[in-house]
Amino acid sequence: APSAVSIMHQVSRTVDSITLSWSQPDQPNGVILDYELQYYEKNMAESNSTLLRSQINTAVIRGLKPETIYVFQVRARTVAGFGRLSGKMYFQTMTEEEYSSSLQEKLPLIIGSAAAGVVFLIAVVVLIIVCNRRGSDRTESEYTDKLQHYTSVSPGMKIYIDPFTYEDPNEAVREFAKEIDVTCVKIEQVIGAGEFGEVCSGNLRLPGKREILVAIKTLKSGYTDKQRRDFLSEASIMGQFDHPNIIHLEGVVTKSTPVMIITEFMENGSLDSFLRQNDGQFTVIQLVGMLRGIASGMKYLCDMNYVHRDLAARNILVNSNLVCKVSDFGLSRFLEDDTSDPTYTSALGGKIPIRWTAPEAIQYRKFTSSSDVWSYGIVMWEVMSYGERPYWDMSNQDVINAIEQDYRLPPPMDCPNALHQLMLDCWQKDRNNRPKFNQIVNTLDKMIRNPGSLKATTPLSSGDILKVGVTLAGHQKKILNSVQMMRAQMNQIQSVEV
Ligand code: AMP
Repeated sequence: APSAVSIMHQVSRTVDSITLSWSQPDQPNGVILDYELQYYEKNMAESNSTLLRSQINTAVIRGLKPETIYVFQVRARTVAGFGRLSGKMYFQTMTEEEYSSSLQEKLPLIIGSAAAGVVFLIAVVVLIIVCNRRGSDRTESEYTDKLQHYTSVSPGMKIYIDPFTYEDPNEAVREFAKEIDVTCVKIEQVIGAGEFGEVCSGNLRLPGKREILVAIKTLKSGYTDKQRRDFLSEASIMGQFDHPNIIHLEGVVTKSTPVMIITEFMENGSLDSFLRQNDGQFTVIQLVGMLRGIASGMKYLCDMNYVHRDLAARNILVNSNLVCKVSDFGLSRFLEDDTSDPTYTSALGGKIPIRWTAPEAIQYRKFTSSSDVWSYGIVMWEVMSYGERPYWDMSNQDVINAIEQDYRLPPPMDCPNALHQLMLDCWQKDRNNRPKFNQIVNTLDKMIRNPGSLKATTPLSSGDILKVGVTLAGHQKKILNSVQMMRAQMNQIQSVEV
């Protein structure tokens, strides 16, 4: 659980409200889901406390009595639960006199601000008119591809730029990834195999900063120019993102060999193998917390206009606090010339991870954030079944046919109905009917806030088990999954007959 909030301060107050703000806990130990604020009148018993939830570290407390001292305490919550309550802090509402005199004091300020606002608005309108006039005089060819990519959807909102739109992709690397001096990097041991070479763990000590653990992806010697470009394109993509649920790029080493991509270190490695190693070890709330993190990272990517195309548990990394981060932004595994990985099946125009991919993306390459939502549904299923292979040992062609005939994966063992329903929503045939990532985050937040909604599961009836005619010994989970799959298929057959 997170550590206690240490500082709380009053932002403003009126006769019947107080606005408070507080610091984040020093050790959040995970993503903070929300804060719980507890308050009561100083002269009353603590048992009369009122509770208030806030998703940010500020809250406006309304409906208070004038000229009254209140006692406030706050605590943070992560998937691990609530942290300790902060120390008691006392804040007082204003008296009527204080309020009216403060209004009088503020009057010149309010009038001044309003006047400044009007002047600013006029200036903006004039600027827009002038820019529009100039713009219409210009020919369209003046705008480069790159400039169009930089255009924001809304103010302050950045958009992802495809590094391959750069004439020289090295320029994208220079723009989005920091060059790290190789002397700052210490490689410790090999931890995995990447597409272009070994992945190692190690340490990074940048000048003036403390040493941190890092993962180091290397490009094996003997690479072609194209391989170097493809390898570094992942860094140019990753370097554009900044979100707690997206793997963070520290930088690249390109001025010496081996060429390296350096990222934050994720102690628990990739999510699929982590879950398989810890089968049955987590609470439903912990699993939903992981899913919430992934959805939040995906919402960020979607807002940046980035389509991942390969969202799967194998491409999610987990750190020591169980925080899940979306990774694998490389494009090479989709390319025809890489024949190493059977997960990616050749199709017209590139390779596709069939089991994770939406039907419209398999059929006519329509990759969108909505096809990422389909893949997210499959990730939900992988998580709730602790790393089971989607569609078990069905062949890719059988999977394609089954999906076309409206077959969908049944709920994994002990999976709450509400989560399976969300999976089914993600697997709607019409991509416009699938939820958006922000809706998925909201739905999961509601479930975390109301764990009772996760109680209902669909138990297997004894009839189902008898039909299989085997004892539930060592392979219990696999048998139950197959039974559920059979049952789902039988339901579908029945509904077709109806
Ligand atoms: P990738 O080429 O990104 O699929 O990486 C290959 C493997 O290296 C992954 O499956 C992980 O086990 C491991 N790995 C990659 N990046 C990291 C990281 N940042 N922290 C820890 N392990 C990693």
